[in-house]
Amino acid sequence: MGAPVNANIAVVTGASRGIGAAIAEVLAENGFRVALVARDVAALSKLETKLGDRARSFVCDVADEAAVNATLDRIETSLGTPGVIVNNAGVGGPFHRVDEVDTAEWDALFGVNVDGVRHFCRWALPRMKASGYGRIVNISSIQGLFGGARSSTYAATKHAIIGFSKTIAAEWGAYGITCNAVCPGYIDTEMLANADPESRKELLRRIPAGRFGSAEEVARLVAFIVGPFGGYINGSSLVMDGGLSAHL
Ligand code: NDP
Repeated sequence: MGAPVNANIAVVTGASRGIGAAIAEVLAENGFRVALVARDVAALSKLETKLGDRARSFVCDVADEAAVNATLDRIETSLGTPGVIVNNAGVGGPFHRVDEVDTAEWDALFGVNVDGVRHFCRWALPRMKASGYGRIVNISSIQGLFGGARSSTYAATKHAIIGFSKTIAAEWGAYGITCNAVCPGYIDTEMLANADPESRKELLRRIPAGRFGSAEEVARLVAFIVGPFGGYINGSSLVMDGGLSAHL
């Protein structure tokens, strides 16, 4: 553990598309150098080219702890020690009833959505503590606060990272580190595009805003949390859902 963390270097997982790509773009626009982490080499290269010297891509499966540690070591050597970690990589489906979910499916979702978050935090926290600075944002979901039919595994993973984020906030807050969860409602990305048209229509009916959110809206909330005025937000679960969870 050598150099102090750099507050302007951010790691964004799941940066190859959707919300993660938008977070990477907005952070780059705000002056961060961004390490783009995901598995899709072509998509990562495309975004890297678009963002120029503000971004470098790193191919990694976040569920694989050894690969995550090796990737973060490479990021540290080539960009510097990140002061910001945005754990966004996540998988949604398949959407099965509780009794239909087999152990392999359960473990796979927890491997990415929960273990993946833990791997990045575990590497980063001691470095952030030594530097007296760190910002961690974990992308949960509105399903981290509520249940949903056929969403037991996904909802369990997203509840888990809220508890994990609060615990980090409590344990590490005295060292200048903040850790928050962001809980988007329905955001128009590939994850949602896979829903059938009837479900999309039904969801829209329940959202007071009458529309899905955009990846850019989530990205700008994340940018605020990790930016110069975000330091007093710690241990929070910030909901952005167009009013969906404001009513039954
Ligand atoms: P997408 O499916 O569009 O993108 C998911 C991203 O995660 C991709 O970049 C994918 O990259 C990456 N990823 C998935 N598995 C792995 C893995 N094992 N290792 C590394 N990267 C991985 O999803 P969204 O952009 O919609 O969602 C992003 C986050 O936001 C997720 O955590 C999701 O749960 C959450 N969310 C989304 C909502 C929505 O309505 N869209 C609502 C609430 C929360 P690659 O395939 O290249 O590895």
